[in-house]
This record gives sequence, C-alpha cells and structure tokens, in this order.
Amino acid sequence: MDTNTTLATTVKPAPRWDLESVFPGGSGSTEYKIFRDKIRVDLDKAKKAFAKLPTKLAPAAEAQWIKFILEFQRLGEHLGLARSFVLCCISEKVNDELGHAIFGEVDMMIADWSTLHNGLEALFAKQSDKQWDKLMANSKVVQIKFPLSEMRMLAKEKMAPELEALALELSVNGYHAWARLYDKISGEITVDFEEAGKVEKLSVGQLQNKFNSPDRSIRQRAFVKFEEAWSSRATLAASALNYQGGFRLSLYKNRNWKSPLHEPLRMNRLQEKTLNAMWKAVATTLPAMKKYIEAKKKLLGIDKFCWYDQFAPVGKFEARFSFEEAGDLVVKHLASFSDEMAEFSRMALNNRWVEGEDRPGKADGGFCTGLNLLKQSRIFMTYADDFGSMTTLAHELGHAYHQWVLKDTPYLATEYPMGLAETASIFNELRVTDAALKEVTDPQQKLMLLDQILQQPFSLFCNIYARFLFDRAFYAERQKGVVGRSRLDELMVVAQKEAFAGILDPTEGHHRLFWASKLHFFYTEAPFYNFPYTFGYLFAGGVYERASREGKAFAPKYRAMLQDTGSMTTEEVAKKHLGVNLTRDDFWTAAVSNSVRYVDEFCALVNSTM
Ligand SMILES: [Zn+2]
Repeated sequence: MDTNTTLATTVKPAPRWDLESVFPGGSGSTEYKIFRDKIRVDLDKAKKAFAKLPTKLAPAAEAQWIKFILEFQRLGEHLGLARSFVLCCISEKVNDELGHAIFGEVDMMIADWSTLHNGLEALFAKQSDKQWDKLMANSKVVQIKFPLSEMRMLAKEKMAPELEALALELSVNGYHAWARLYDKISGEITVDFEEAGKVEKLSVGQLQNKFNSPDRSIRQRAFVKFEEAWSSRATLAASALNYQGGFRLSLYKNRNWKSPLHEPLRMNRLQEKTLNAMWKAVATTLPAMKKYIEAKKKLLGIDKFCWYDQFAPVGKFEARFSFEEAGDLVVKHLASFSDEMAEFSRMALNNRWVEGEDRPGKADGGFCTGLNLLKQSRIFMTYADDFGSMTTLAHELGHAYHQWVLKDTPYLATEYPMGLAETASIFNELRVTDAALKEVTDPQQKLMLLDQILQQPFSLFCNIYARFLFDRAFYAERQKGVVGRSRLDELMVVAQKEAFAGILDPTEGHHRLFWASKLHFFYTEAPFYNFPYTFGYLFAGGVYERASREGKAFAPKYRAMLQDTGSMTTEEVAKKHLGVNLTRDDFWTAAVSNSVRYVDEFCALVNSTM
C-alpha cells in the first residue's frame, strides 16, 4: 500500500520559528550588535568594580557587594541571550559565517564573565560563616542563596586562587586540547563502505548509523569496518585519553580530592550514596533485560546478540503526522495531566517558538534554548512527519516548560544540573509514548513502539553502565601510571561483560574499542559523562510513575519541583517534592521496575507474531 506517500504529500510543512522578534535581521542585526556592545562595556565596568570591591565583607561593604553580585547575575543573563540567539542563527544556517564569528566573540565575553565568577567565588571563600550568613539573609539575594553558597563551598574545596587561575589557563592547551585532538583524529577517519553495489566514503559517524540498519549483514560489515578504522587510530586515542586523564588526576591531587567521582558528583549536586543506590537497583533489572533481548533475538532471527544488534529496528510504524497534528497530539496528551502544561505548549507552538521546517542548510539534531531575559525559549529541530519527530517535539517542549516555570526566578537559580535537566523532557516523552501505545492496535506498530520504549532502559542500564564501569576502572589504574592501549581494550571488555551480564555474545559480541570510538570518554567539560543519563531517565521515570498514580492532583507539585531544580541539591529536590530519600533503595527500586514494565507484553507479542 502506498497510502503513506499520498498522506505524506498532503502533510503541511512544519513552520519556521520566529527569531525576528528577538533581534530583527539575524546574526547581522543592528539591534543585536548594540546589545552585544553594551554587554562588552558593562563587562569592563564590572571588572573595574570587582577590583574595587572590599575584600573583607564588613557591614559597611555589604551594599557594595550586593550591587556587584546582582550586576554579575544581570550580565550572565544578558550573555545567555546573546549566546542563545547566535546559536539559533548558526543552527538554522550552518554556513552563516558572520554568525560563527559572533559565536566566538560571545564565547570570549563568557570567558571574561567566568573569570569574574572565579574571582568572586574565591572572595566568597575567604569570608567567615557569620558574615556570609548575614549577607545571604539580605532580601535582595536570598533567592540566589543556594547558587552563591555553592560557589563559596566549591571554592573552599579548591587550591589557592592564584593556583586555580594558573590551572585554568594551562587547561586550555594542556587539558581541553586533548579533546580537540581527539575530535580531529575522529573527524579525519573515512572508510570505504559498499552497499547495494556502490562504494561510498563514509565518516565514522555515518558508518555508525549503519548499526541501525534492518539488514544484519550491513550492520555486521559496518561494525567490522568500524573496529578496523578505530584500531588504526587506537594508539593515538589511548595517548589522548591517558594525558587528559593524567591532567585531571594531577589537578584532583592538588585540590586534595580523593575520588575521581568528586567532580562529576559535585556537578550533578549528587551524593555518592545516591549514585550507588541507583546502580544497585539497576543491577536488579538484568533478568528482565535478558528476557527482552531473548525475545528480540527471536524476532531478528539471530542466535548471537552482538554490539551492532543493540539498535536493530523491529516492527513497523508508518503512520505520518504533520507538524500541526503532532502539536495537537502533544497538547492533548499533556492536557490529561495538566491544563497549564497543555496551554503552555499551545502558546509556544502558536508563538512560533519552534523551528521545524525540513530544508537544506540546517544543522543536525535538536535542542531547546532558553531566552531567560525575554521569558521565552526556542526549540530547534527538523521535523520529519514521523513518530520519532513527534516524540522529539514533546521532549523539547518539556525543556521549554521547565524553563517557563523558572521564568520569574533570578537567573543564577535557574541553572539546574544535568541529572535534573532531562526531567521535564523525558516526562513529556513518556506521556506521549504511553498514550500512543494505548491507541495502537496493529501488532507491528505495537512491536516497534514497545521496542522503542525498552531500548531506552536497555541502553541506559547496560551500555551506559559499561561506560561508567570502564571510567571507574580506567581512573583507578591511571592513578598508578599510563594505561596501555591493549589494557584499555581489556578493561572495556571486562566492563561490558559485567554491565551486559552475558547478553552480548562472549566470542564476538563485544566492542573492545568502544573506549576509543565514543566521544564521551574524551569530553573534558564533564568527566564521567555517562551516569547523569541513567540518573535523569530514572528520576524522570520515578516522577512520571507518581504522576500516573496521582493524576492531575500531582501537576502543581510537579511544577513546584521543577521550580526548585536550580535552588537545591538533587537529594533535597526529591525529599521536598516527592518525599523520598534518594540515598535509599526504595525510590530506585520502584523506578527501575516501572521502566521494565513492558517487557512481558513485548515478549508475549513477539511469541504471538512468530
Ligand atoms: Zn533533552
């Protein structure tokens, strides 16, 4: 049947977003230039004001301190808008050269702001608790007490300010540069790949996309080529990994931080006990994961499950949704939980906060960026009329809602950690997928949806856990010296064996060079760039499960919880708004069992369709 093609041609194209009302004329906008020039002037003034700030916080200095802190915050918010706007410009037009130049310019200003940030936190650390508490009780800063006190606490855990300043400067070429070198190594790899009698030159990213092919021989050939390509670069990648890891550990040693998890846990405002409780609960899902994969193997007609089978598609979901229909569906499914969330999403769609049009020259992927100063957001995506696009729209509208409930919160208290950043987006996704599942009757469509739902916990509980185990083992060995390339391979296979618990075929199922092929291991902005994904998914799942039980009565509590995500630790958010203790097992046990609740249905459906 080709009703799909007929339908697809009648589908209205997705709309373009409104950037004109932010600054008219794109990256070349005069208004935008004036806005940036003003920030530059104000940053210079702030630098001078900082130099004059009394270093001792006596009662007479308090007003001057408050004034400076508020100006620092105001500049942060203005820089946020400057950056978001140019990000929108270069995303909708990747060859916007002026936009790219401005992007670099704004980043330089943000670096200046960060220098002020560092100076300020060092100053905070020097004040007595008594003086500090008095300052924080001032009504002008009481709402940003948490982020300011966090700055002070973090500064106290660091080295002397002049050493920190030196470390920061050295990190540009001595630390972050390793990540850039890795990008170069990865970017320069091209592989000849033959498909349907045609040989194409592919990047490693394109080659990796072949792991999603329904044809197993393509997935397998792509994987073999992928490992070969990385094998030829593995010695270089091993050096990059060892040197940046060594830099990090030296810094930690001088800051007297005992564990390599200290920094990532601080970044996520999380305790190690919480992380351990989460992984402990995750381990209990392995039998369910095995059951799911056994059924999937049956469906795929394979007896050995390999790395490249993880994303093999099953079932079919060919329904087309226009952008308008997708928007209507998202609004409808949200309305059954919260009128306010539905109204917000409708408003965002009507006011053209979403860039959805499918046209050449746009960047890949999707994001939601806050324009806090204007109390707005913008969502970037390329809408493709399919189910995946609809869930992406729901996901990004969740981010926008999160920013919306924080619109009247002072800027510094709107910054939430990565582990909480996906709460509202995953919540929306779960809502839309669950609703779609209820409406679907065709077994093939149902299979695809269930598989899509289950791929998430499978990936987050096994694949991400393997990354975490690898990182932990790598840092433990790196503390004693350089870890050779073949040892990295070994550590990776050991991590995969433990995390996948026998799901991957023992002889050919592992991806031993995963440590080299995965960008996240080389990401210097956030070490251990893995567990926040699992955390975010399970936290959102736990919140979603609560919402399913309590219904509309939970909506105001949900909103209040999101509002506090930038004003307290993750454990405090959970305690205050969900009444749960994240360091204990019960929340996690419920969250993990909820996330695998469709395994039995999937297995039964597989059996009935075979
Ligand atoms: Zn997201």
